[in-house]
Amino acid sequence: MIPAKTNDRLEPETSQRRFAQKGSTFITRHNIPIGRILGIPVGLDYSWLVVFTLFTWMLARNYFPAEFKDWSRLLYWIVGADAVVMLFASVLLHELGHSAVALWYKIPVRSITLFLFGGVAQIGKEPPGAVAEVLIAIAGPLVSLALAFLFYIVTPLAAGMEPLFGLAKLLAYINLGLVLFNMIPGYPLDGGRVFRTILWAITKNLRRSTIITANIGRFFAFGFIFFGVWQMLTGKIGGGVWIVIIGWFLDNAASGQVQQAMSHGLLEGHTVSQVGGSHCAVVPAELTLQQLVDEHILGTGQRCFLVNREDNIVGLMTLHRIKEVPRLEWATTSAARVMLPLEHLKRVEPDTELWAALEKMDSNGVNQLPITRGNRVIGMITREDVITFLRSLQELGTLPT
Ligand SMILES: [Zn+2]
Repeated sequence: MIPAKTNDRLEPETSQRRFAQKGSTFITRHNIPIGRILGIPVGLDYSWLVVFTLFTWMLARNYFPAEFKDWSRLLYWIVGADAVVMLFASVLLHELGHSAVALWYKIPVRSITLFLFGGVAQIGKEPPGAVAEVLIAIAGPLVSLALAFLFYIVTPLAAGMEPLFGLAKLLAYINLGLVLFNMIPGYPLDGGRVFRTILWAITKNLRRSTIITANIGRFFAFGFIFFGVWQMLTGKIGGGVWIVIIGWFLDNAASGQVQQAMSHGLLEGHTVSQVGGSHCAVVPAELTLQQLVDEHILGTGQRCFLVNREDNIVGLMTLHRIKEVPRLEWATTSAARVMLPLEHLKRVEPDTELWAALEKMDSNGVNQLPITRGNRVIGMITREDVITFLRSLQELGTLPT
């Protein structure tokens, strides 16, 4: 439904997940891996179990009995469950549409997670340009449109077999619904992505285009919420609740984008040296993990360490690395054996822009980066450092650069 990219593609994307507070609710790492397609790991968010149960229940108890009077009780449930599995497959194909075009442009797709109302493709880097952005965005809805058409043309063929007929008709509607919803011109929906690219071409200002189209997304989100509440008030509780949830989802995603674009704007012109960073204590390479834990972590609350050998910083040690070693081995394992060696780490310089530093953390999946001058490590910058700095900027309006 919504392709995600490391930094300005929505979506509750990686940078947004860790960085902005809003919009992050939807993409969690709590997903059930279901395999690889086109080499992309595909996972199922736990929310899908709720969707599966509720949708099946609604279809088996309300929709199909209203459309077809004389099926057996079991048949309503079987066809209902089938329809939800096919809905799942439809959403997956939509996401694969985005992903296939991204891959064609040699843009890596890290993962696809199917969650409450659709999927999110985590697309690894920015598209090479406006044309790629538009083509990636419309590929998903085009797949859904093709599926809607396919189900529409097979419907008459299944006329003699009511369950198949009912299934095909419902899936034609569902896929058409996916097209219409995703083509809403509010970022970060697919249609909003296209509209943002058009605005970007006109205004030459990507950030402003993002803020405008994400606010259009919020406008539609409120529309959904009001309509859903109205439906509930007129007695259509089940349908109304879903519409409210869709609106809430869209508002979260869109306001996350607004916030992220504004944060980017605030951080512009500010560099790593202004944050200072460096809460990382320096520890000797031969120190054992047990000593490190006893003497440096417990009691001090330190969470990250620079590992020093002969007056040179050679690596970085984090709590995460320590936890990967079985506790029994802590007394005999040296910091040097477990650390992240410096040569494997991405680094930033004091004059690196903060936004660029954050992007680097995202694209490398880390929460801190060493700050180097020449070949010497002079400190560390963490995601928290940047977020704290950003909060100060937000509160003060601005800071002298
Ligand atoms: Zn999509």
